[in-house]
Amino acid sequence: MLSAREIWIDEKARRAGYETGAALASSHDLKGYRIEQLYRAATRELVDGLDDVTTLPKELRAALAAEGFTLDSVEPVVVQRSRDGQTSKVLFRLHDGNEVEAVLMEHHGERNTVCFSSQAGCAYACTFCSTGQAGFTRNLSATEIFDQVRYFAKQLARDGRKITNVVAMGMGEPLANMDNVMASIALLNDPKGFGLGHRHITISTVGLVDKIDRFADERTQVNLAISLHAPTDATRSTIMPVNRKFSTAELMAAVARYIAKTNRKVFFEYVMLAGVNDSDAHARDLARLMKGPLYHVNLIPYNSTSDALLSGSDDERIWAFAKILEQLGTAVTVRTPMGRDIAAACGQLRAETQPRAKAS
Ligand code: SAH
Repeated sequence: MLSAREIWIDEKARRAGYETGAALASSHDLKGYRIEQLYRAATRELVDGLDDVTTLPKELRAALAAEGFTLDSVEPVVVQRSRDGQTSKVLFRLHDGNEVEAVLMEHHGERNTVCFSSQAGCAYACTFCSTGQAGFTRNLSATEIFDQVRYFAKQLARDGRKITNVVAMGMGEPLANMDNVMASIALLNDPKGFGLGHRHITISTVGLVDKIDRFADERTQVNLAISLHAPTDATRSTIMPVNRKFSTAELMAAVARYIAKTNRKVFFEYVMLAGVNDSDAHARDLARLMKGPLYHVNLIPYNSTSDALLSGSDDERIWAFAKILEQLGTAVTVRTPMGRDIAAACGQLRAETQPRAKAS
């Protein structure tokens, strides 16, 4: 297993046309401590760009820059801030022109959470999700994921603040890009680099059973969230095509194995769709799937999309649904919607600026 620093320098070197970090190092006669200076500047000191790595000789910076070596593999092209100032959403362009989104939620200074994308597009086609409707383009690399977080971390660092939480709830299915996502987590976590604790990182999955088993075997403290969105196959298959591959029962069995192995709490996301998954009967079926204190339901008010055929449940229905769960002994919270005025739900900003990857 490569160290976080090796993952980082290898990827940055490849972008500059080298095969590995070692090849880049030998071409510029870069000693280990020089690589360390670059890596620390980018991940720990959070300097803005290569030119600010003042520990490096100016000529060396210029030579690296001339080859296309950069500290950032994502370039902001659209930046939006919600009226309440709590949510910022950024559309990033990647080197090949693909675009992905990330969001910063500031929670009034108590927490600063970044929601990052793990893929350009998504192959899972959930009917309520803008990203899913646009199709899959490619996986993001570990540094393309890390650099989304770095972008916001740099901004907060200017007034002495920090990213406290990171969630893989942007575009894409993180467990379908598991190797790169785990490598990005190594970068986020490295105590010599960015230094964010595993417990402050959450992976959200559409429910890939084989990958949930692999994730359990990783034995990390990284949190797992499951996009359940319906308690039965009949309902789930109509909004989440993945359910035809992994049934709700198979998914819940994988969650039970995960909990048995890790003894960690699992978060079940449940987006409330009017007339689709929000009846009293759905609430009772959902409560039956929740097998104890390590099962936690998070009800999500639907962020309506411009092309949506679905509409969200109203607040009254959401709270009535929550009450049934509570009465049946299920731990439940209702997510506070943030950034609705800037289309902050998954894939929505890109959907406004880019044509769909495939016709529907
Ligand atoms: N592929 C991962 C991450 C996707 S985005 C997954 O499926 O979990 C994170 C969450 O946002 C998922 O639970 C997803 O279902 C939900 N989501 C997608 N579009 C939404 C919308 N318009 N409103 C509210 N939640 C949405």
